[in-house]
Amino acid sequence: MTMVGLVYSGRYLQHNTNPYRLPLSGEPLPFVEQVDHPSNPRLVERTIKLLDMSDIGQHLQMISPYSAPEPTIALYHTQAYITRVAALSEAGGGDAGQGAPVGVDSYVIALLAAGGAMAAVDAALGGDMTRAFALVRPPGHHAMSDKGMGFCIFNNVVIAAMHARRTYGLERVMIYDWDVHHGNGTQDAFYDDPNVLFVSTHQDRLYPEEFGHLDQIGTGEGTGRTINIPLPAGSGDATYMAAVEEIIMPIARQFKPELILISAGQDASASDPLGRMCVTAEGYRRMTEAMMTLAGELCGGRLAVVQEGGYSEIYAPYCTLAILEALTEYRSNLEEPVNQARADRWPQSQAIGLDARAALDAAKQQYAKYWKNLTP
Ligand SMILES: [Zn+2]
Repeated sequence: MTMVGLVYSGRYLQHNTNPYRLPLSGEPLPFVEQVDHPSNPRLVERTIKLLDMSDIGQHLQMISPYSAPEPTIALYHTQAYITRVAALSEAGGGDAGQGAPVGVDSYVIALLAAGGAMAAVDAALGGDMTRAFALVRPPGHHAMSDKGMGFCIFNNVVIAAMHARRTYGLERVMIYDWDVHHGNGTQDAFYDDPNVLFVSTHQDRLYPEEFGHLDQIGTGEGTGRTINIPLPAGSGDATYMAAVEEIIMPIARQFKPELILISAGQDASASDPLGRMCVTAEGYRRMTEAMMTLAGELCGGRLAVVQEGGYSEIYAPYCTLAILEALTEYRSNLEEPVNQARADRWPQSQAIGLDARAALDAAKQQYAKYWKNLTP
């Protein structure tokens, strides 16, 4: 039986993102009824409840997260920013940057989210399991060193990668970010670092618009170690799997990571209100299995998955269940009831559109300069 670590704490639900305010003006939306913030606690809560309703629990080993020590957070974030988040939280809340809501206790919970990602790394590297999933919130991949962005306060996956290298002496870490948005903070953290391979598939120019373009390839010694694969809206399972098989897997095999981290945003799903992609739960399962194949070949199976976005209250939990089913190599008793039967007939799911093919080919051409395994 394959046991997988599941890092979770009910405290994650206490990070309060309401009310939803417009990102630029800071005003609430002008409706009589308040609109819930997209990154409200229900998404993670529904996910943990769905897992609980399924019979997958027998394959999951629950792991309690710990609070990331401030010096570890400071490996990426500036001290001034850390202090500002703490003060904001103490004062009752506010915005940690651009659309990164902080409420009472959010500082402590954000430390627990970063520590949750660290605990997933500990499980993958230190224990008798090699795979772990950190079901954390707030998410992290947009957070920059000196400001929060896009619902993210501290960059959980960055902290996890730094923890893996510092505590376990790893040299090379690969991060695959499949969130529909670009992991701009993660890219920034390792932009000149030759030992962290950052790969992102995302909807082209969705958020943040100035990040994730094909010509952002890293700098200095890190040149060619940032791999951006911007995809057109509407891309589905076939396009994502082509990106994985034709681009990401060959590069990873040449890079030879000692640990693979996934920034897992289930907002590229076919039902997401914040994205316009068409990935199904089955697609997430296949992408997870591909990363397990790589981890098996390259780094003793060591794989840690860190939750990022995912805003379809109905569908995202099923995508996460499919990811956990892949990790545990177990099919639970729950069938995905929403999209799969329809998606099997969707051309976006089954075939690569012409614009998607062009995007994939452009990425291959760009990165073939740095990776001989890649044939444009
Ligand atoms: Zn996202």
